[in-house]
Amino acid sequence: MTTTTLPKFGATSYAFTSYSNAENWIGGQWVEPTGEGKLDILNPRHGKAICTVGLSSAQDIDDAVRAAKEALSGWQELPIRERGAVLYALRELMIRDLEELTWLVSHENGKLYGEAKAEVLKGIECVEYGCALPNIAAGTQLEVSRGVTCQVTHEPLGIVAGITPFNFPCMVPLWMMPQALVAGNAFILKPSEVVPLSALKLAALLQEAGLPDGIFSVVQGGKGAVEALCDHPDIRALAFVGSTTVARIVYGRAAQSGKSVVCLGGAKNHLIVVPDADLELTAQNVLASFVGCAGQRCMAASVLVAVGDVDPIIDELVKQAGQVKTGEQLGPVISDAAKKRINAYITQAGELGAKVLLDGRGQDADAGGSWVGPTILDDVTADIPASCEEIFGPVLSIVRVKNLEEAIALENSSEYGNASSVYTTNGEVARKVINQVSAGMCGVNIGVPVPREPFGFGGWNHSKFGTGDITGWDGFRFWTQPKKVTSKWAVQKDANWMS
Ligand code: NAD
Repeated sequence: MTTTTLPKFGATSYAFTSYSNAENWIGGQWVEPTGEGKLDILNPRHGKAICTVGLSSAQDIDDAVRAAKEALSGWQELPIRERGAVLYALRELMIRDLEELTWLVSHENGKLYGEAKAEVLKGIECVEYGCALPNIAAGTQLEVSRGVTCQVTHEPLGIVAGITPFNFPCMVPLWMMPQALVAGNAFILKPSEVVPLSALKLAALLQEAGLPDGIFSVVQGGKGAVEALCDHPDIRALAFVGSTTVARIVYGRAAQSGKSVVCLGGAKNHLIVVPDADLELTAQNVLASFVGCAGQRCMAASVLVAVGDVDPIIDELVKQAGQVKTGEQLGPVISDAAKKRINAYITQAGELGAKVLLDGRGQDADAGGSWVGPTILDDVTADIPASCEEIFGPVLSIVRVKNLEEAIALENSSEYGNASSVYTTNGEVARKVINQVSAGMCGVNIGVPVPREPFGFGGWNHSKFGTGDITGWDGFRFWTQPKKVTSKWAVQKDANWMS
């Protein structure tokens, strides 16, 4: 053990602030990961290391599993109401430490203060769903025959795990953990190795909230740690959120050891704009969708499908996007590698014939950070990768189509199916698009159609592998297994062969 308590993260502004190195949290103790190598945790705004993180070995994963096993029966013996009470306490502590959590997210991920705060608040909303479970997770019972009852209860699986991406270091773990814990499981979290710090703060708050040691562990690391989690025979279920490439690998590998698995992947979200759309609402909303969180949201607008002449809306969008101040209204992207990848998509699109209406290359707010300004590409055709590949930066590709049928066909040709929106003032147009697009989360005049709690979050097609959504009731179902009990306590005198 290298430290006993997690120090407070002292930042109260964007000014560079260092922090203690990120360790594993296993059995209520901070322990150094034992895998080979260490990574610098860079603040994307400054390009400087806040601290380092070690990489976990398979032994570290096994240690977390052993700690979970020791604590599990005591946790499962508690009535669900008492497990839920820990989540109530967590909610209060997160509100108490809202500023610290916000600055932690902002510094490790690069989000603007307001974006980071919104992330933490959405995470709290997910905790509130966990708080509600004791009131909504009752099973069912029915007298199915004379004197015979059938009963269904939702039983915990045991030890379960979650693997999360860099873009929401606080919220995405909270998509998974509240339901899993209140259901009576022990949860092992492996955050992205790029943003390991918010997860540690959550661990410290859960302990303060009264969660028994061993019931929540954090293991740091990358591919090696993920593979050890996938392969561990005592981990019964695994949820993953990240890119489609890795989601597909994790889904196959974790299922091999008999786990329940759900893996959320990448996205290429289409916003269909028709000529009757409200100019002001559409321009402002599309801008917020593709620029917010520097375009690093799986729900971000990526393709604007322009149906017919919507040029007044595009002109307004370009005007407003051109006024966005990088550094103040647009945060950095996660790394220099991400910046180079995004810039390469812009350069390539230009070379292949797209018009660069607004160019975010070279819009550095300062020398240290990884900056890309708002970028709008027009006349993007199907042969240009920016039309169909996930760029994950503040880049909007405009694809021109003649009519609504072509727009819907274009959306449905994407391998992804996370989000899709339509901008219109015509109810029939909205209804047609929503009915026909192949996407799990749809919006009408909303560029980031995230279903708020208690509605479940989850895409379709290659944006998700597995069944059900990751939040809401589906999340609870995922982390539990139904037990069916059929009982008869007395001989029925008037019994027939059906009794
Ligand atoms: P990523 O796939 O690179 O990493 C996700 C997790 O997988 C991390 O914990 C990482 O350590 C691990 N990982 C990375 N490479 C691995 C490998 N080869 N084998 C095993 N594990 C590996 O994703 P990211 O860059 O952290 O996050 C961005 C991606 O996540 C985008 O594609 C975005 O669309 C997606 N995302 C999807 C959702 C959703 O709800 N569908 C939500 C957030 C982010």
